[in-house]
Amino acid sequence: MNSLRNSIIGHEALFNAWSKLISKESLEGTFLFVGPSGIGKIKSTFAMIQQVLCEGELDQACGQCGSCLRVSQRQHESVLHIQAEGASIKVDQAHDVLHFCQLRSLSKKRFVIIEEAEKLRAATANILLKTLEEPPHGTVFILTAASTTSVLSTIRSRAKVFKFNPLSIEDMQKHQVGPDWAILASQGRMDRLTELVENQNFEFRKSWAHFLNQLLTSDDFLSQEAWKDLVKNREDLKMGLSFMLSMIRDASFLYWNEKDVLRNMDLRDDLKKLSQMPMEKLEVTFVKILELQKQQAFNKDAVLSFESLYIGLR
Ligand SMILES: [Zn+2]
Repeated sequence: MNSLRNSIIGHEALFNAWSKLISKESLEGTFLFVGPSGIGKIKSTFAMIQQVLCEGELDQACGQCGSCLRVSQRQHESVLHIQAEGASIKVDQAHDVLHFCQLRSLSKKRFVIIEEAEKLRAATANILLKTLEEPPHGTVFILTAASTTSVLSTIRSRAKVFKFNPLSIEDMQKHQVGPDWAILASQGRMDRLTELVENQNFEFRKSWAHFLNQLLTSDDFLSQEAWKDLVKNREDLKMGLSFMLSMIRDASFLYWNEKDVLRNMDLRDDLKKLSQMPMEKLEVTFVKILELQKQQAFNKDAVLSFESLYIGLR
């Protein structure tokens, strides 16, 4: 069994800062973990808590002791995890926090996690302000939120901020968390990546593979209407461009008969068609798509961009 830390990619600087606080025995007060959703704030929170509550002698969590196991199962008696039920955190939940703080602590530290602290409305926040300002000895508060500005300033001013940045593409690729096209499209968010890979994945890619084939081979591309809807959605277009690059990359590997490195084997019929096209044409298309991606052509008329790409390829 590994520690939770081992399953987390990136956020090195934050873990280092956290470790430093532990080693200086100055881990106390209220923390505000900010960053877009799906970036790993809660997962990291539990990993950091595991590091503190581990019964072992090491600075890192062993991942195996009873305490580590209870943290990873989210059942540790010294951790209270508050999540909003609906649009706001309820007054009752604030009272749960106060009650937890009054209990006798059973371990060296205990933690209160308040997820989505932007959902703390003034009335509820007021109940907690004094405690957040000065948590009882040995109690650490960790609040998470999308941004510092989304949280009431009365809370913000009492907290030490840990800023979670999106993962770098390199980090994600190094750990092979998903296919390249999805990594590029996920913009450093693991939840987006999972969604891409698991849900819309196949149908979405299938329709873009079809689009790519039409762009390269169809005689009446300009008069077709279906693809124009496909490229109109900004988010879809971003993903579509990344995906088309990965298809062309695959097609050229297939052309050279390097089948081991293909990333889109589930679309082998489309890949085969692509790989039979003149390599030169594929290369030009690849470069053009890269350009579209770089120019962030999304603000411009995407339909126009593809029309001129099509004409250029003729
Ligand atoms: Zn442990």
